[in-house]
Amino acid sequence: MPRTSLALIAIALAPIQLASAQADETTYALEEVKPDLYRFVAGSYRSMVWVGDEEILLIDTLNTEAATWLKKELDRQFALPVRYVVYSHNHHDHAYGAEVFDAPNTVFVAHEMAAENLAMSGAQTILPDITFEDELALKLDGETLRLRYHGPNNGYGSVSMHFEDQDVMFVVDWALIGRMPYEDMKGYDIEGMIRSTKDILKLDWDMFVGGHADIGGREGVEHYLGYITQLYDGVRNGMIAGQSLETLQGELRLDAYSDLRNYEDWRAQNIAGVYRILEDRSYMLMRPEVVDPTTE
Ligand SMILES: [Zn+2]
Repeated sequence: MPRTSLALIAIALAPIQLASAQADETTYALEEVKPDLYRFVAGSYRSMVWVGDEEILLIDTLNTEAATWLKKELDRQFALPVRYVVYSHNHHDHAYGAEVFDAPNTVFVAHEMAAENLAMSGAQTILPDITFEDELALKLDGETLRLRYHGPNNGYGSVSMHFEDQDVMFVVDWALIGRMPYEDMKGYDIEGMIRSTKDILKLDWDMFVGGHADIGGREGVEHYLGYITQLYDGVRNGMIAGQSLETLQGELRLDAYSDLRNYEDWRAQNIAGVYRILEDRSYMLMRPEVVDPTTE
């Protein structure tokens, strides 16, 4: 066989080996959800891109690899400068990678508590140029993205992001559609999740995009609010009655919400999380009227 044929065979085989080596890697996609508004999907993570006539606004760069893919895709499709990069909150798995978009005219935006925590904790991302306390409106082409702080709910300075002219609400981590809250709710404030979710349901929008899981309508968020409320009430009432964590994990079934993904795996962990939050933050087990669970 001549040398050239061998070389061709080697080239033909290479893509097969490459495909299997990449099987575990993150898959990326940019999906248009409303005119000029895109959901950036990076594995189980989601962020948002808003494309104006002359400039782009984006929320959450996630990490350097995801941000690099996104920048290339935005350059390819739109070739417009990025005017704003917004951080949904302080956690690294959403706020890293912003250096990929660092440019003289790009403005980085976060709630003041997210900004303070990124700075104090030495986070390796771009520190925000603009911060706010309660509310901030950012504009593209005369249309508005309104950022709102609802109090503590997850991490520091985690805000809702309301595309008012497109009727889209984007929230990261503290509200979800189609999936249970994550494992044992590390870093969450359950009362704040309930309060913040009630707050966004008072606002006018018809599409919800989560930083994880599904896109949906208002009924998806109402169903999620039902779940976190029943979870909280069930754990609180059980603790007051002196039930141990193990008893609660056995008896508090919450099966009206068994349609949520990870229900089987995470229900007991969600209960443990709320139990821990009530013990740590509300001193529930030290209250004089609460029955000692060890006497159960
Ligand atoms: Zn997250």
